[in-house]
Amino acid sequence: MLAGSNTGTSSGSRFIQRLNDGRKVWLDGKLVEHIASHPDFRGTIKSVAGILDLQDDPVLAPQLVYETETGARANMAFLIPEQKEDIFRRSRSFKIWSDATFGVMSRVGGTYRGQVASLYVGRDLLQSRDPYYSIKIANYYRYVRDHDLMVTSAGHDPQIDRTKLSSELGGLYTALRIVRETEDGIIVRGAKMLATGSPYMDEIIVSPLAKKTSEEKPYALLLMVAVNTPGLHLICRESFASEDEENQPLSSRFDEMDAVLVFDDALIPWERVLVKEDPELLWKVRSTAVGSGLGLHESIVRLVSKLEFVAAVGNELADSIGIKKFAHVKEKLAELLYQLESIKALLLSAEHEAKLDDASGVWLLDSGLMTTAKNLGNRYYPRAIEILQQLSGAGLLQAPSTLAEFRGPLGLQLQAYYRGADRGAEERVKLLKLAWELVGSQLGARHELYERYYAGDPIRTYARQYVEYNKQPLIDKVQEHLLSSTFHHY
Ligand SMILES: Cc1cc2nc3c(=O)[nH]c(=O)nc-3n(C[C@H](O)[C@H](O)[C@H](O)COP(=O)(O)OP(=O)(O)OC[C@H]3O[C@@H](n4cnc5c(N)ncnc54)[C@H](O)[C@@H]3O)c2cc1C
Repeated sequence: MLAGSNTGTSSGSRFIQRLNDGRKVWLDGKLVEHIASHPDFRGTIKSVAGILDLQDDPVLAPQLVYETETGARANMAFLIPEQKEDIFRRSRSFKIWSDATFGVMSRVGGTYRGQVASLYVGRDLLQSRDPYYSIKIANYYRYVRDHDLMVTSAGHDPQIDRTKLSSELGGLYTALRIVRETEDGIIVRGAKMLATGSPYMDEIIVSPLAKKTSEEKPYALLLMVAVNTPGLHLICRESFASEDEENQPLSSRFDEMDAVLVFDDALIPWERVLVKEDPELLWKVRSTAVGSGLGLHESIVRLVSKLEFVAAVGNELADSIGIKKFAHVKEKLAELLYQLESIKALLLSAEHEAKLDDASGVWLLDSGLMTTAKNLGNRYYPRAIEILQQLSGAGLLQAPSTLAEFRGPLGLQLQAYYRGADRGAEERVKLLKLAWELVGSQLGARHELYERYYAGDPIRTYARQYVEYNKQPLIDKVQEHLLSSTFHHY
């Protein structure tokens, strides 16, 4: 049984019940009361609950949950790959989650549940620096897993002046740091950005993404924070949610809210303080393949689902106005497919090339291939959206403001003037509305930004991959030829 399932309620309804826990979510200058019924959240929360309910579906459950050492069932994102087959079990489960939202939602499939699993796997490797680290992460992992909790993260200092260290931002507590320690834990003050989905998650991993210097020691923290922690405020961006399911099929169901976290002297209990003022340990946690690999796996599976969706929409747009016969249109549609197939190939290779890590006893995906997929994704997705624009021209703006026009006095004219090459007018307008959600809506713009940045500043993630790549075998080959007077003839 999944944790709590003996209560007779479903996974989704338990998720909704948990939201009424005193969390402080701010939107439009007001504290959000009853988030699950608030118009800017209820569509998304209903979707998340529906997706969580898949775990209780007798047909899908065997692919989405596994049995833990205590005999309970847990979400597959928490499965520790002790056999190579576990990698594929995780992958199949991620695909089901991702397909449920066409890859549009990034925090339901388990990226950060996977991140917690990663931290758990690496727990003993870091034991030497902090004897409590291992126990704390093991307890936290079991707690989150056994309660089927939803997890997100927040990594950056507020974007005030990026030339400055955390310690130089003006005001001691602009970036998050400890105010004082008590018997129960640490009191922290300061802000963190940006926590996707946090208003309706259970837990947030709060920790800097970038390496901290010795001057920034007070800011080198890794905290596991409950969303309803007293003193924590979540300040939401403008909502892009809609209640109009017919005309805004994605915004009405999948607006993953983003929020800045403001800690106003919040108490973080000791058991949730994983790293305290230790830049070296923090970087070790962040930079080992063990420390991040299981979460990234879900992100790449989700990217596959999203590219499949965009490729399908592109194909339909081209069909709907009969432009597929043009060579340049085929070329653009092929580009969408190449993107998809490249990421799929990298994912498959990373899974098949997984190796048993002797130190942790766990199978790890090939991190170079996964990083390549991640880095290509932040260039592919904006280009995929550009292709949808190029395939549509002004057609996207030809769509009437609402599908209700078809039921109004001009319905017959619309049937005549809005029809497609291969489909009726109403069907075509529905397609245009769906495409607009990806290309031109607020939700679409947010998604482009998400894919560019969610995994870090692409400039620096590319540079880091170059620096860490083992280039020596390539260089050796050239050197060998440069130093020898003759070329080998085979
Ligand atoms: C929609 C969305 C959702 C997100 N969700 C999450 C989340 O759930 N959790 C989370 O932790 N993060 C999340 N992020 C944040 C993401 O991690 C960051 O956007 C990313 O790491 C880049 O950091 P930044 O946005 O602060 O940009 P900055 O680092 O401020 O960069 C802005 C610009 O300045 C340049 N720049 C800044 N500093 C330097 C430097 N030192 N050297 C060179 N160039 C520099 C960058 O190249 C870039 O052009 C999300 C981001 C987006 C857009």
